[in-house]
Order: sequence, then C-alpha cells, then structure tokens
Amino acid sequence: MSNNTTNVLILGAGYGGSVVANTLARELRKEIARDELEITILDKSGTFINQAGFTFIPFDLFTPEELIMPRKKLISPRVNAFYGEDGEVTNVDLKKREVTVKSNKKYNYDYLVIALGCQAAPEKTPGLLDDYNTFFTTLEDTYKLKEKLMNFDKGRVVISVANYPIPCSGAPVKFSFMYDSYLRHVKNKRKDIEIAVAWPIEGIGPPEFNKFVSGELEKKEIELHRNFITTKVDANKKEITSERGETLKYDLLISVPPQKTNPVLIKSGIADSKGWVPADTTSLQYKGPNGIDKNVFVIGDSGDASILKTGIATHYQAVTVSQTLFNMIKGYNIIKPYYGKAGCPMITELETAFTDGRGYIPTWKYNQPNEAYKTTRLGWYIYRMYYHLHWEMSVKGMF
Ligand SMILES: Cc1cc2nc3c(=O)[nH]c(=O)nc-3n(C[C@H](O)[C@H](O)[C@H](O)COP(=O)(O)OP(=O)(O)OC[C@H]3O[C@@H](n4cnc5c(N)ncnc54)[C@H](O)[C@@H]3O)c2cc1C
Repeated sequence: MSNNTTNVLILGAGYGGSVVANTLARELRKEIARDELEITILDKSGTFINQAGFTFIPFDLFTPEELIMPRKKLISPRVNAFYGEDGEVTNVDLKKREVTVKSNKKYNYDYLVIALGCQAAPEKTPGLLDDYNTFFTTLEDTYKLKEKLMNFDKGRVVISVANYPIPCSGAPVKFSFMYDSYLRHVKNKRKDIEIAVAWPIEGIGPPEFNKFVSGELEKKEIELHRNFITTKVDANKKEITSERGETLKYDLLISVPPQKTNPVLIKSGIADSKGWVPADTTSLQYKGPNGIDKNVFVIGDSGDASILKTGIATHYQAVTVSQTLFNMIKGYNIIKPYYGKAGCPMITELETAFTDGRGYIPTWKYNQPNEAYKTTRLGWYIYRMYYHLHWEMSVKGMF
C-alpha cells in the first residue's frame, strides 16, 4: 500500500457490509489493481447466517445449510477480509480514524462504513429471560422454539413484539400467518389453539401494508393488540403486562425482544440517546454531536432509529453508499441520495395439500408509500426462491 492509497474500511460483513465491499471491488477493480484503493472488511465471524430465514424454520421451509454460507464464498478476493479475533471490532475512534479489534490490531481509514447490525436486548424487559422463546436471535433459539411449537397442541400462543424499532417489522405478523396456515392445513389443530399478537406501536408498516395485514389478521381470527409495549413478563402467572397496565395471558409466549444497536458502537460513544447510530436520512453519513462526518457512513440495522430496518432497506442503503463512495474516490464529490427505498416481504398462506402458498414483496420510499397489494401464488414462489438467489444476487451486489 502506498501513501496515495485510499482506504475504505467496512465494519461488519453481514448484509449491508458485504454489498458495499463487493460492489466497490467490482466497480473499482482497476484502482485496486493499481494500489490506488484498498478495501478492508471486518467481521467477528467467518460465517454468514441469513437471519431472515429464521421465520421459516419452525415450518420446515429451509434447512440450516440453506441459510449458512462461508464468507469466503461471498466476499470478493479483491477485498482484504479479516474474521475472528482480527475482525471482531472492540472500539471505533472517529477522531483518530482508528478501529481496534479483539486481537488489539488497529485499522485506519479514509472512509468508514458502519454495518454492524443490531442486537437483541431481552434484559430490557423484566422477566422476559424467565420465559424466553424466540426466532429473532440465533438458529439455536429458533430450533428450541420450533420444538416447543410443534409439541404445543392446545391453548393460547401470544407473539409479543416488546418494543420498537425491530429489524423487519413484517416478520412477526408473517410468522403468525404461517403458524395459522400450518395449524389449519397441516396439523389440523387451529380450533384448539388461539393466536394473539402484541404489537408495540399503532401501525404495522406503512398505511397500505398495515391495512392489508390488519385485514388478514381479522380474517384469520388472530387477535391484535396495538400499542402494547411489553414492560413485564410474569412466567409464573404466564402473563405479559404493557406500559399502560393491560395484561395478556398466554400458555406459550413467543417474543421478539427489544433491540439495540451493536453494543460496540454504544461503548465507543457513537450511539445517540435513543440508543441507535444517528445518520443523515438521505446521505446516510454519520451525524454526531459535532455535525455530519462526511467520511463515515451508517447503513442497515445499526443505523438511525428513524430509518426502517429491513434486509431490503439495508440492500438499497448499501447500493446508495457504494455509489457515493465511488463518486468520492473518483473525485466527483457527488452524494447519491437515499430516498428511503425499503420493503418487507409478506406471506399469508403456506403451500400445503389444501392451499396454494401466497406471498408478495411490497416496497416503498420515504414519500411514496406502498400501493395496495394482495399476496399471490407467484409471490410465494418468488419469495421461496429468493433466499437461494440472495447469495449470488444481493449479497454479491449484482443489482
Ligand atoms: C427473524 C428475522 C427475520 C427477518 N426477515 C426479514 C425479511 O423477510 N426481509 C427483510 O428484508 N429483512 C428481514 N430481516 C431483517 C434483516 O435480516 C436485517 O435488516 C439485515 O440483516 C440487516 O443487515 P446489516 O448488514 O445491517 O446487519 P447484519 O446482516 O446483522 O450484519 C451485521 C454483521 O456484523 C457482524 N458483527 C457484529 N458485531 C461485530 C463486532 N463486534 N465486530 C465485527 N463484526 C461484528 C455480524 O457478525 C454480522 O455479520 C429479518 C430479521 C430477523 C431477525
């Protein structure tokens, strides 16, 4: 590396970080070959796990092998990649432009992309860890939940989304629809099992998304409790309590725990009072107490509380930031705006002996809410295929 080499450092080789690394490595391959540019990506693990697939695991729609991929197969060889102790970030110093990892190695940068995702914080809800069943954390937790769910034959299941924001607002209702379909058409147990969803804010996604899923919940006789911020779980009484003091009884509790940005970012003093990493909602540049840092970008689940967190949103943010970085490295100094493009795939019916699968992938932008939509049989097939295509198309930044 010469003194004239521009250094792009990407923290996190999950969805967002991988797209930025692969897009830049392709678009700027000449600059890399001429030693004018170096791209480095850091991650604590050498394995990519597609967490969006967890929702499907209890219904046997994916195997773990389909959701796991070594990062060596995903990140361009033009990128310097460090995993494990040399990749696990322990401190980010924006003043010194220096990132420290577990092995104590330090990395400097000209441009920094923060894509460290977010983390479950079940400890924020008293009692939650006493009765903690979730598909929102790890494959192991999801398999434990699957076992409980498959052995549950009678009673009341409550799916509680403790607080907001969460990654993928649509995932909890999608899970309830798939469970409903599974009980009706596979297990023939729906009449013995009540399903309720406790949702922490008023709307579920943008207006048309909310309208559609609300109608489906009603049709499927799934109870919906809006504005129910779960503040307490009582495992003995089998009851959750909301901020407003309402209670809901359950026999089996499924929780989407409160979320927070990556703890390393909180420890490094980069998060704001809401607990997320503030960024300009259009340029995606870090917006700290001293204003915008032009050389630091924040994408995906780590990012600003006001920007919707989904894999689809992360993808478009990564594409946008890659274009801005391309412009800056080439000296054009043009910021590509992020217009809030996001989406949240929906499924309302499983494909069973008695039903066609039904799905759809609604998308929207900041000032352009999604249009009215219906789930379709074709949508089901596209969504089912997508997690196979996602490795080659999305993660490698091909679109
Ligand atoms: C159950 C579930 C279902 C979902 N369903 C959908 C869906 O259907 N559609 C959709 O669009 N989105 C969905 N999402 C959301 C989607 O998965 C996320 O929005 C997306 O993965 C965010 O990408 P990211 O790059 O910000 O974070 P991640 O993909 O989480 O990547 C963060 C990376 O940072 C790494 N990391 C963490 N800490 C450190 C550290 N200290 N040092 C180094 N590396 C570190 C991690 O190993 C990881 O690779 C779902 C999420 C969940 C949990």
